[in-house]
Amino acid sequence: MAKPQADEFDLLILGSGSTAFAAALRARELGKTALMTEERTIGGTCVNRGCLPSKNLIEAAKLLYDARAPRYPGIGPTAPALDFQGLIGQKDELVRAYRAKKYESLLGDGVRLERGHVAFLDDRTIEIGGKRFRGDRVLIATGSRPVLPPIDGLDDVPFLTSDLLTSDEPMELTGLPPSLLILGGGYIALELGQMFQRLGTNVTILERGEELLARGYEPEVGPTIRGILEQDDIRVVTSAQVTGVRTDGDGIVAAVATRGGARELRAARLLVATGRRPNTDAIGIEKAGAEVGPRGQIRVDRHLRTNVPHVFAAGDVVVGEHGSQMATPVGSQDGAIAAHNAFRADLREVDHRVVPRVIFTDPPIAVVGLTEEQAIAAGHPCWCNTLPISLVPRAGAIRDTRGIVKMVADAETHEVLGVTMIGHGAAEVIHEAAMGLRFRATLLDFIGLLHVYPTMAEALKIVAISRFKDPERLSCCAE
Ligand SMILES: Cc1cc2nc3c(=O)[nH]c(=O)nc-3n(C[C@H](O)[C@H](O)[C@H](O)COP(=O)(O)OP(=O)(O)OC[C@H]3O[C@@H](n4cnc5c(N)ncnc54)[C@H](O)[C@@H]3O)c2cc1C
Repeated sequence: MAKPQADEFDLLILGSGSTAFAAALRARELGKTALMTEERTIGGTCVNRGCLPSKNLIEAAKLLYDARAPRYPGIGPTAPALDFQGLIGQKDELVRAYRAKKYESLLGDGVRLERGHVAFLDDRTIEIGGKRFRGDRVLIATGSRPVLPPIDGLDDVPFLTSDLLTSDEPMELTGLPPSLLILGGGYIALELGQMFQRLGTNVTILERGEELLARGYEPEVGPTIRGILEQDDIRVVTSAQVTGVRTDGDGIVAAVATRGGARELRAARLLVATGRRPNTDAIGIEKAGAEVGPRGQIRVDRHLRTNVPHVFAAGDVVVGEHGSQMATPVGSQDGAIAAHNAFRADLREVDHRVVPRVIFTDPPIAVVGLTEEQAIAAGHPCWCNTLPISLVPRAGAIRDTRGIVKMVADAETHEVLGVTMIGHGAAEVIHEAAMGLRFRATLLDFIGLLHVYPTMAEALKIVAISRFKDPERLSCCAE
C-alpha cells in the first residue's frame, strides 16, 4: 500500500473521544496514519464532561456529607464551608491537566486532529471546516448526546443536561442551584442527584417507571437505592409522567401526572437526564452507506465492521450491538479492536460477555453478568440469593451496612452467572466477580478463595456460601 498524501490518511476517525484515541494509538502501533476530528473539546465525553468531572465532584460531595453526618458515635458533625466556584475551578483544572496528559500530548507521530463539524462526502471522504480528507479505512466514533423527551414547553425553558459538568463550554454549570428537578431515574440522574443534594441543593428525581432502575437490574436494586437516597433527603417520585414545563419567576414548574393525581413541582433548575442517543444523524451517514439501527446506533458485526467493508464503528455509537454498552472501557477496548481489524487479517471479535458496570452513588451499585431473569431466559436452572450487606463483617466494622449482595448461579453446574452488589467498596469488589465470570468460576471457587478479613470482597464468599449454609450462623471467616 503506497504511503498516503498529506490530505490522505490510512484511518479517518470521526470523533476524538476515548474510543477514537484508542483506535488512533493502535493504528500508530501498526505503522498507520490516523486523522481524528472534533467539533467540541478534544477527548470527548469521558474526560471533559463525563467520568472524570463527575467522579471528582461526587467524591467532594461525599467529603462534605461525611463531615456533616459522621456515622461514628463519638465524632461530632462539622459544617465545612463550600465555595462552589472554587470546587468547579479545581474540577476544571483537573480536567485540563488530565486532557493534556492523556489526550493532547498523544497527538503527533502520525496521529492528527482536525477541528470542526465532520460529515461524510462518500464512504472514503470526509469534509471538516471546509477541508476534505480521504482515508483508506474509516472509523465512526462520534459518541452520544442527551436525548430530549417530547415534553410541552421544554423548548421554551432553560434546562441542564448530562453535559452540565463540561469545562470551557457554555453549558457548564458554575452556580449551585438551591433546588433541582431531575427528569429521569437512570445512572446519571442518581449519581448527579445525590451529588447535588450533598452539595446543598434540594433534589427531586422524577422517574416515569414504577421503580428506579426497573429495567436491566435485579428487582432488589431499585427499592434499595431508593431507600438510601431518601435517607439523604432526596425526594424520589416514581410513576411520574412529566406532561409540561414552564418558567415561573426565576424557577421552573413541571406539571406531573403521578399515581396520586396531577401535581405541580417547582425548582430553581431543571436537569433533563432521560438517556443518551448515538450521534449518527448529522454526519451524512447515508453518503457513507453504513446502516443505522432503530436506536440510531451504527450496525456492526462482531468485528465492528459496518455493511461497508472499510467503514468501522465503535463506542457509544454502537450501543446495544452485540451487548455493547455506553461506557469508556467498552469503547476503548473496541476502538483498538476496530483499528486492528481495519488493517490486519487476523481479525479480533468484540467480547461483551463480561462487562462490569458501576453507578457511582454512595454506596455504589455494581453489577456484572446476568440477572436472575436473564439467566432463566437463557435456559439456566437458576439458583440465586440476596443477602443484606450487614452480614459482611467489614460493613459492620466500619458502620456502613447499607446495601445488598445478590449472586446468580447455574443450579446444576454452580457456575456463577451474575453478581449485583450495593455497598461500600462495591465498585472495586465487582472486579473479583468479573474475573470469576471471565474464567467461569463456580460457587466453590468463590468459597475456596481465601479472602482478606475483614474486607467488603467477603460479600462474594458469603453469598456463595449461602447456597449451602445459613450465612447468619457463620463464625468469622469460617466456610
Ligand atoms: C455525566 C456522565 C458520566 C459518565 N460516567 C462514566 C463513568 O463513570 N464510567 C464510564 O465508563 N463511562 C461514563 N460515562 C460514559 C462515557 O463518558 C462514554 O461512554 C464515553 O465517553 C464514550 O466515548 P466515545 O469515544 O464513544 O464518545 P465521546 O467521548 O462522546 O466522543 C465522541 C466525540 O465526537 C465528537 N463529535 C460528534 N459528532 C461530531 C461531528 N459531526 N463532527 C465532529 N465531532 C463530532 C463529539 O463532540 C465527541 O467529543 C459517563 C457519561 C456521562 C455523560
